[in-house]
Amino acid sequence: MKRLSEKIASIAPSATIAISDKAKRMQRDGIDVISLSIGEPDFDTPRHIRDACIDALNRGETHYAPSNGIPELLNAVSEKITRENHFSCSPEQVIVTCGAKDAIYEAMEAVLNPGDETILLTPAWVSYEPCVQIAGGKVVKHAVNSKTFQLDDSLLEQVNDKTKMIVINSPSNPSGAVFNEKSMKLVADVCQDHDIFAMSDEIYEKLVYGKEHLSLAAIDDMAQRTITINGFSKSYAMTGWRLGYAVAPMNIIRQMSIVQQHSVSQATTFAMWGAVAALVGDQRCVEEMRKEFDRRRKYVISELNQMGYETAPADGAFYAFVKVPGDDLEIANRWLVEGHVATTPGSAFYTPGWIRLSYATSMEKLKDAIGRIRRVG
Ligand code: PMP
Ligand code: GLU
Repeated sequence: MKRLSEKIASIAPSATIAISDKAKRMQRDGIDVISLSIGEPDFDTPRHIRDACIDALNRGETHYAPSNGIPELLNAVSEKITRENHFSCSPEQVIVTCGAKDAIYEAMEAVLNPGDETILLTPAWVSYEPCVQIAGGKVVKHAVNSKTFQLDDSLLEQVNDKTKMIVINSPSNPSGAVFNEKSMKLVADVCQDHDIFAMSDEIYEKLVYGKEHLSLAAIDDMAQRTITINGFSKSYAMTGWRLGYAVAPMNIIRQMSIVQQHSVSQATTFAMWGAVAALVGDQRCVEEMRKEFDRRRKYVISELNQMGYETAPADGAFYAFVKVPGDDLEIANRWLVEGHVATTPGSAFYTPGWIRLSYATSMEKLKDAIGRIRRVG
């Protein structure tokens, strides 16, 4: 038989999904595993968002919609971006996708040519590199400062004629770090001085604790070269809805639209009505969830620090990133097999020697998990 695609065969499956699936299998086998592995809010989608989707379903919003998204949602996103993220955005500059992940994938396909280099700042989330590789691009990694998790001028050492794009993710998955103004300005300067595109994944923008979230596209003329990625999974607890979006200059949106039309066609029509309610409705639900994450964050970080572990800044998202004494794969495996606590080794994010714990789970389970980690060490 002829060989299957070598390009795809060379890409590893998603580590975050693999570990969470393993934890689920152990749970199905009757083992009491606490999963701190996947980054998924444990809250249900707020009621008014679910109701808007059910209403849409009942009134027959079950047909194909415009490929880039229903006009109501494109308008709601463009107004939200202009109002909250402080850069101008028309509805034509928005594309609604099947999750933020799909927006990332489409953007890479839209921008990269074979051999184009994309700089990833490590620790980096698991799906950026595969999306670059599927698009035929090449990844160049640059480690952020391992104490502050901010950037400095050494970023410039990775830039050359082939550099096409820089990906930033603030607040960061997995480190929880939030880029300060200096780091953001540095990225903006590098992009503008060297004619480089930027992808700014802002999916955790609503989950910041005492820090300010800054949008890259709001700096100088960066809106002309930035693809801003966002979605509903984290802010509104809508992971299973598979809804995200990208905001970018119109020529990039046109290219992404071609990928979308020939692959998924569009995001699900009635689900998009739920997303309209999420954006235009009462935002108190977002703040309530943020406050609860903050409470858990303080607990988990202080317990880990008391146990002697060093942790990354944890100023945003819902992850504690912990420095471990030894091999992260071995330690995460021990926590899982002996303590029945599933976590994600930092190696999955190109940062061996660290482990990511998601605190998007109930306080009761977190207390149990911390007790188990303390026991197995
Ligand atoms: N970016 C980051 C940094 C994430 O952690 C996730 C979580 N899956 C995504 C994008 C994708 O989100 P979505 O569920 O909307 O595809
Ligand atoms: N982003 C989440 C995580 O990092 C969900 C899983 C995934 O899509 O990779 O765990």
